[in-house]
Amino acid sequence: MLARFFSYYAPWRGLFVLDFGCAVLAGLLELAFPIAVKVFIDTLLPSGEWNLIIAAAVGLLAIYLLNTGLMAVVTYWGHMLGINIETEMRRRAFDHLQKLSFGYFDNQKTGHLVGRLTKDLEEIGEIAHHGPEDLFIAVMTFLGAFVLMLFVHVDLALITAVVVPVGTILTVRYGARMTDTWRAIYSSVGAFNARIEENVGGIRVVQAFANEDHERALFARDNAQYRGRKLDAYRIMSVSQSLNYLSMRLTQVIVMVAGTYYVIEGDLTNGGFVGFLLLVGVFFRPVEKIAAVLESYPKGIAGFRRYCDFLDTEPDIVDRPGARAVDRLAGDICFSNVHFTYSTGHPVLNGIDLSVKAGETIAFVGPSGAGKTTICALVPRFYDLVEGAITIDGIDIRDLQLAALRSHIGVVQQDVFLFGGTIRDNVAYGRLDAGDAQIWEALERAHLADTVKRLPDGLDTIVGERGLKLSGGQKQRLSIARMFLKDPAILILDEATSALDTATERAIQTALAELARGRTTLVVAHRLSTIRHADRIVVVDAGRIVEEGAHDALLQKDGAYRRLVLAQEQDVVRPAILA
Ligand code: ADP
Ligand code: MG
Repeated sequence: MLARFFSYYAPWRGLFVLDFGCAVLAGLLELAFPIAVKVFIDTLLPSGEWNLIIAAAVGLLAIYLLNTGLMAVVTYWGHMLGINIETEMRRRAFDHLQKLSFGYFDNQKTGHLVGRLTKDLEEIGEIAHHGPEDLFIAVMTFLGAFVLMLFVHVDLALITAVVVPVGTILTVRYGARMTDTWRAIYSSVGAFNARIEENVGGIRVVQAFANEDHERALFARDNAQYRGRKLDAYRIMSVSQSLNYLSMRLTQVIVMVAGTYYVIEGDLTNGGFVGFLLLVGVFFRPVEKIAAVLESYPKGIAGFRRYCDFLDTEPDIVDRPGARAVDRLAGDICFSNVHFTYSTGHPVLNGIDLSVKAGETIAFVGPSGAGKTTICALVPRFYDLVEGAITIDGIDIRDLQLAALRSHIGVVQQDVFLFGGTIRDNVAYGRLDAGDAQIWEALERAHLADTVKRLPDGLDTIVGERGLKLSGGQKQRLSIARMFLKDPAILILDEATSALDTATERAIQTALAELARGRTTLVVAHRLSTIRHADRIVVVDAGRIVEEGAHDALLQKDGAYRRLVLAQEQDVVRPAILA
């Protein structure tokens, strides 16, 4: 763990050494004052020689000036080191995030993930710049002070050395307990971040159900848990800090009495005595520093551990060695004996065999939960199938580079995700280098251009964080415009219009039909009337294909499709609100 932590320093080796060098020097220069006091009292004061006294004062001043400069440098460089490391860690974490598959995100709470990329890394950065440096300076000053104490008076130094470790040992022991406490605190922070995230995302649902009190109660539980864990940490901290204070004051009293004894015995000069007391102060400061580092170290290490766990999650969908990139795909898709199971373990697809010719439109129909969405999700490898194979143009999709494969597939879903930003940004998400002319053309083809033209800011109109300013139909048109820009060989329309009212759905069908032209298209549709003209209709039930053929042919048969159609026609005669 530590070796891994220090590996992050490697690119900043030079900075680290410089910072360390300055820090150690600064630490040692702190020892100048007690020595100066001894010299002033024992030598300069009795001599009464003013030129010597002034020379010594100037010398001391020079040392302080040097130290001031060193401290400024150390503060800046040390933090620079920390922020460099923090930036790199955050970059790696975000990079890793992009590689994880749908399967991973299915099992994660957003708040936890966000916490890892923000709070955790901040704590680690804090440790990265203070930890090793503070610890090292502390040890150096500690040893330096002790050596000087030995020079002043051996016995007195030994007495001090016996009393001090008691406090140090206690502090170290408490440090270990803090690690666990901080880890618990982090998981609490993750929990309520997730809670807030979910609440904000679902606030409309919460308010529509008037379930605010229920949400408050859930939040109060997380909040109380956090408070409890924080209090644990503070309790441990207060005990360890008080013990540290007590051991320091005890040492001072003991040194005071013992020192007085040695002075009376004529074994120690007055200056030596005062200088020694000051050295004890210097000797203790590192102990406090070490305690502080030991206290923040658990926080950082707990965060670092979580960070490492995250980085160590292997992305499960990656390029096979030797995977190919292809510039063009015709779009023949072949499913052979495809089996699939989500991580929950329940088999969802049980042997799908289907071949789709380039340019063909295939509609999947069947009851909810039959596996239609899952079939579609396997083609762009959002999930990897468990058994069997899917080929495109005869190439197993696992032998294509993931990015290449996905660049040839366009997915339009029921929920359109709009990024915060302008309409231009959102349409250009289909092809990042698209110019305004291309964006307008795409909007035109999606039948959204007129609407956008009427907006005062046109393409520069900001769509809300979740695109709330656009109607459902407009959002769907925007996602169609994205697809025109992307221009994929294969198109997947998974209930793209199911959330829309019938009139809007009909209006959008034209744009979708234009989009589908010349592309292999897999459609999942709730309203069967919209897929009547598909080249082939495939009825899926319980993860199997139960029927397949053109609309008319299937209707002739007294099979599953006919039953589905009849069931929906009955719906139509019912009041429109139930349709
Ligand atoms: P359809 O699109 O035909 O309604 P789906 O393909 O969405 O059906 O779902 C098929 C089955 O897989 C359902 O039983 C559903 O509960 C399950 N399922 C869908 N998505 C996931 C997922 N991400 N994790 C676990 N199970 C899932
Ligand atoms: Mg579905």
